[in-house]
Amino acid sequence: MGDIMRPDWPGRLRRAQRGVAERSQAALIVSTPANLTYLCGFTGSTGLLLITPADARLLLDGRYTHAARQSVAAGALGPVTVEGVPARFDTALKSILDREPAGPVEFEADQVTVATLAKWQRAINRTFTPTSGIIEAARVVKDAQELAAIRRACATLAGVARHLREWVAEGRSEKQVAADIDAALFGSGFERLAFPTIVASGPNSAHPHARPSDRRLQEGDLVVLDFGGVLDGYCGDLTRMAAVGQVQANARALVDAVRAAQLAAIATVRAGVLASDVDKAARDVLTDHGLGEAFLHATGHGLGLEVHEDPRIGRADADRPVGMPANKQVRLEAGMVCTIEPGAYVDGLGGARMEDDVVVTAEGCEVLTDAPRDLVIV
Ligand code: ZN
Ligand code: ZN
Repeated sequence: MGDIMRPDWPGRLRRAQRGVAERSQAALIVSTPANLTYLCGFTGSTGLLLITPADARLLLDGRYTHAARQSVAAGALGPVTVEGVPARFDTALKSILDREPAGPVEFEADQVTVATLAKWQRAINRTFTPTSGIIEAARVVKDAQELAAIRRACATLAGVARHLREWVAEGRSEKQVAADIDAALFGSGFERLAFPTIVASGPNSAHPHARPSDRRLQEGDLVVLDFGGVLDGYCGDLTRMAAVGQVQANARALVDAVRAAQLAAIATVRAGVLASDVDKAARDVLTDHGLGEAFLHATGHGLGLEVHEDPRIGRADADRPVGMPANKQVRLEAGMVCTIEPGAYVDGLGGARMEDDVVVTAEGCEVLTDAPRDLVIV
C-alpha cells in the first residue's frame, strides 16, 4: 500500500505536551497501548511515553530500542526521543524525571496497576496525579488519515460480508462458519481480528455475546454473524443476520424490528445530537414492537484504534465509568466514528442484531460498511 498518509504524530504529541503544561503538571506518563500507537505509532507490548511540556520520550527495553531509533529517524515513528531502559522502568523514569522541573506527574489510572504505581512512588519523590480519558478524548474525533484507514477497513469488511451465504449452511457447526469468516478476513488483508468472531445460531442467538460452539445449524435457525478486523491499525465491526430455511413468522418479525430500529438510529445520527438520542431512536422502535426489554445492550460504541472506544451510544441514564460525572452527556461531533447495532434477544425464539459503522457528519452520517442488510436465507 504505497499511498498511505502518515499519521499526524507531531501534531498529536504537540497537543498532548500543551495539555500537560495547561494542567500545570511536570509530565504525563502514557502507558495505554492504543494511546502510545495514537501519539507516536509504537505498537510493541511494553513501553512508556513520558510527555513533558518540552519533550516526548519513549522508554523502551532492549528488545525495541535499536529498531525504534531507526524508525524515528525514518519517520515511521513519531518525533520522540527513544530512551533505553537497561533494567527497570521505575529507575529509568526516576533518572529522566530528576532532570525535569519540579511538579506533579500524571498517569493513566485506567491502565496503571496498583503495584506499578507503588513502584513509581517508591522510586520517585513526586506527587502522582491519576487521570482518565485524556488521550482518549483526543482520539474521539478522527482526522483525515484515520478516516481513510477506517474507510478502508470498513469497505474491506463489507466485502467479506457479501460472501456470508457461501459459509452459512444447514449441518455446519458455528465453529466451522466462524473459521471460514476468519479465513476470509485474513485473506482480504486484515492484519488481525478486531475481536473473536461471533456465530450464534438458534437458541444461542438469544445471547448477545455467545461464542461459536460445535452446535450445527438447523432448519429454522436465526444466525447472528458478528465479526471485525483491523487494517492499518484501525478497526471495522459488522453484524449481519442469516436464517436457515424457513424461520417462524415471529423470528422474521424480530429481525425486521431490529432492522427498523437500526435504520431509525442511523437516521438520527448527526453532529450536535446527543448520543443518548440515537440510542433512544433505536430503543423506541423496539419498544413499539414489544421488544424494549429484549434490547440488552447499548446501541453502539466508538470505533478506531480500538474496537470499543468513545463515544458510547447508550441510554442517558446508563452507568458511567468510575470517576466520570453521572450526567455527562456525549454530543456527537463531525468526524466521530461509531457502530449502530441494536439487537433483540428472546429466549425460546432467538436473537437478532444488525450492525454498521458510521462516521458522523454535519448533515447526518455516512455508512461505511456498505453490505446488504437483507436476512441471508440459506
Ligand atoms: Zn460487532
Ligand atoms: Zn460492535
